Amino acid sequence: MELSATALSSETEVVCYSCQECGPDASGHLPGRSCACRGSDAGYVHLSCLANYASEKSRHEQSVQDFNRSWEYCPVCEQKHRGEFAVALATEFSAFVCREYPHDATLRVICLSTKLSALMGLTNQSSPQQMTEMVTIGRLLLEMVPQVSTTEDKEMFLSIKGNAHHALGTMARREITSEGDKRMISHFQSYLEVNEELGYSEGICFAKVLLADARSMCGGVNIKEYLSVHLEAYESRVVDFGEEGELTIHAGTRYAELLLKFSDPRYAETALGRERKREGLDLLSKMKTISVRVFGPDHLVTKEISRVFVENELVE
Ligand SMILES: [Zn+2]
Ligand SMILES: [Zn+2]
Repeated sequence: MELSATALSSETEVVCYSCQECGPDASGHLPGRSCACRGSDAGYVHLSCLANYASEKSRHEQSVQDFNRSWEYCPVCEQKHRGEFAVALATEFSAFVCREYPHDATLRVICLSTKLSALMGLTNQSSPQQMTEMVTIGRLLLEMVPQVSTTEDKEMFLSIKGNAHHALGTMARREITSEGDKRMISHFQSYLEVNEELGYSEGICFAKVLLADARSMCGGVNIKEYLSVHLEAYESRVVDFGEEGELTIHAGTRYAELLLKFSDPRYAETALGRERKREGLDLLSKMKTISVRVFGPDHLVTKEISRVFVENELVE
């Protein structure tokens, strides 16, 4: 009986690991968490307590590279904060930099980039205001990065620039106008170039897929090339994460879906269409078998595979 009473109280009232209180902080927020901490009590913290802690940490940080670390990673599980919690913390980070380092353009770039990553992490859940903010920050970063970039931290600034192009391309895609389409392609092209300059193979692969998808949205796609970009993405993930990696299965499913789509007589002569259809179906079945075994039948990755089966009127 005592055990269940304890479990109940910790479920309804979580304690902040920093101040040991469970009520709302001065701004009215209850302790929250959005990292990889698990269990009924680990990792819960008031946003204001975490901001105080991160301010203290970053004041003593020696390197520019680590300045944002305590504003992005949970000190308990050392994983990134996610979702709205990450966005709120990044907003506190910007306020901290504006207050304490108002004339430091480098730190301004770093906190803006942290905010942009947090907002991008919301994927399709972002509000119209947040989308506008992403565009504003992305443009500001492209303007500021060349002014503050140093040889010493070249790689960090290049990847900030790449992320700005990624965000601006993603936002342009949502406009669904021909002007937006042009900007989308140009930003994804720049994102690819930055990754090539950095030599990030996973980034290059991802950028190629974004660019190929963008071109196909605009109708200017060479199907053979498009398929080979997705095949390459799948194969490189097999190398990086193994056949059972979540990203591998995701890429394999996407490639199978495109094989099925382009097996339609509208896109391919009959013999080629039949070949693509068989290849697509084989790959999709393989992805399903692995996904069910590794993640189970109710996992999002498995459900995504089932959706492709249903939409293509195929029997699993
Ligand atoms: Zn607290
Ligand atoms: Zn944590």
